[in-house]
Amino acid sequence: MRVLVVEDDPSLGQVVQRGLAEGGHTVDLERTLAGARRAVAIATYHVVVLDLGLPDGDGLALCRELHDQATPPRVLILTARDATGDKVLGLDAGADDYLTKPFDFAELAARVRALLRRPEHARSPQLRVGDLELDPAAHTVQRAGVTVPLTAREFSLLHYLMDRAGEVVSRTDLLDAVWDTNYDGLSNTVDVHVANLRRKLDMPGRPALIETVRGVGYRVGGDAAPEVGK
Ligand code: CA
Repeated sequence: MRVLVVEDDPSLGQVVQRGLAEGGHTVDLERTLAGARRAVAIATYHVVVLDLGLPDGDGLALCRELHDQATPPRVLILTARDATGDKVLGLDAGADDYLTKPFDFAELAARVRALLRRPEHARSPQLRVGDLELDPAAHTVQRAGVTVPLTAREFSLLHYLMDRAGEVVSRTDLLDAVWDTNYDGLSNTVDVHVANLRRKLDMPGRPALIETVRGVGYRVGGDAAPEVGK
């Protein structure tokens, strides 16, 4: 299951991220509202652990936005604000649970597990392009029924492309969406990752899935590709 931790206190954020990861979850950490918005636009999260006091705004705004999504993640608000009024505001904004700092990590982990047990998260929409299937919940990719092991970065990259099947996605958009803003790597990073993805996804006798649109970017599920699923 995939969890997003939004917390601007670096040490607390890392403790929560590491602790939940040890519990077997895939955990991403963001320190700002902007970063969190970018993360939820790329990946499908089952639970968001959300601090309210963030450097660029109030976590409640994100909570409301998430609540308006077709399949919203569960939101657990984690904050130093402990007044009853704040708790009510949080729950009214669509939060599923609320924990005030300071807290016991064991309690946080138990609450996250409880949120993940809620049945509506048993299934989440799969992305399908031709014989390629990506399951955001299970974090798996299959081609023609064969599981393809990907790195987290390759998975995010493919997820982003499949979410926009049929559209040409520029390298800049991919860098922005899949790499964090501090990323200052070489300009051919996207190309290298796409090449790796292709190597893993290509199967003899089956059509290539990721098309290069010269001078523009990449496309999955374009005209050249087989039928685009839901
Ligand atoms: Ca804070």
